[in-house]
Amino acid sequence: MKTGLKGKSVLITAASKGLGKATAEAFASEGCQVAICSRTKSTLLETSKEIKEKYGTEPLWCVCDINKAKDIERTYEAVLKEFGSLNVLVNNCGGPVPGYFTELDERDWEHAYEQVLLSAVRFTKLAIPEMIKNDWGRIINITSISVKQPIDNLILSNSLRAGVTGFAKTLSTEVAKYNITVNNVAPGLTLTNRLYELAVVEAKEKGKSHEEVLSEMAKRVPMNRLALPEEIASVTLFLASKNASYLTGTTIQVDGGYTKGLI
Ligand code: NAP
Repeated sequence: MKTGLKGKSVLITAASKGLGKATAEAFASEGCQVAICSRTKSTLLETSKEIKEKYGTEPLWCVCDINKAKDIERTYEAVLKEFGSLNVLVNNCGGPVPGYFTELDERDWEHAYEQVLLSAVRFTKLAIPEMIKNDWGRIINITSISVKQPIDNLILSNSLRAGVTGFAKTLSTEVAKYNITVNNVAPGLTLTNRLYELAVVEAKEKGKSHEEVLSEMAKRVPMNRLALPEEIASVTLFLASKNASYLTGTTIQVDGGYTKGLI
């Protein structure tokens, strides 16, 4: 399958590890100009080096806390300066803290709002004028299967991912006439640091080991295993490709059959 993505400039946010990193690798393997950002310089350096060794091209990396408007502006400016334009924006973020409603306070809600919804809005706001100018663009938000089926103990994620989904759907109709598509990828249980951390929390709650919890998680999936980050990244790559040119305003769940809803 030819993606038509060679040479396109791509920014993937929160991408030094996990799903973001796998997404950066997928675009680098297609010959894209890739930019990644996250908060920790050492991890960004490691990831960039690894991508350069594998694909022969070093990503632009920016230290950026996506909860901060100034960091987002600085990152976007660096991308434009380096690549001259931005064609594909992948809005990823760190996972919001787990917790039940009664355990979380207003500051947790504000932090999660900035992390999940406002960061996507801010990056998109900056990227859209460039995409309109190019009469082409792709915006892909990494959400979660929690938009199809809320997950216990993740009220922040469940609530704010729904916000991202509403934002994406509304924006998709507004910018469709410029050949800009806006879609979401909703990952299921995927083997990354985030899942490991959630397994540790669940293990503590249930008095089990995190290995046991991870194995039980895998058993909840009809495919009887957890996803690999690259299995999510390949769907993001497809949504950015020329093959997905008529696909907009939708959410694609990549969950090994985990969610039970019909659509
Ligand atoms: P991960 O392995 O923990 O990686 C998170 C990445 O985000 C890291 O590169 C981290 O780097 C960066 N990050 C965290 N907070 C940031 C901030 N404020 N500003 C900039 N970068 C930040 O997580 P993951 O599993 O890839 O998950 C990615 C997203 O998908 C999360 O929102 C998660 O909730 C969602 N998701 C994951 C799963 C799953 O099973 N793994 C399932 C559904 C949805 P630094 O810490 O250095 O900043």
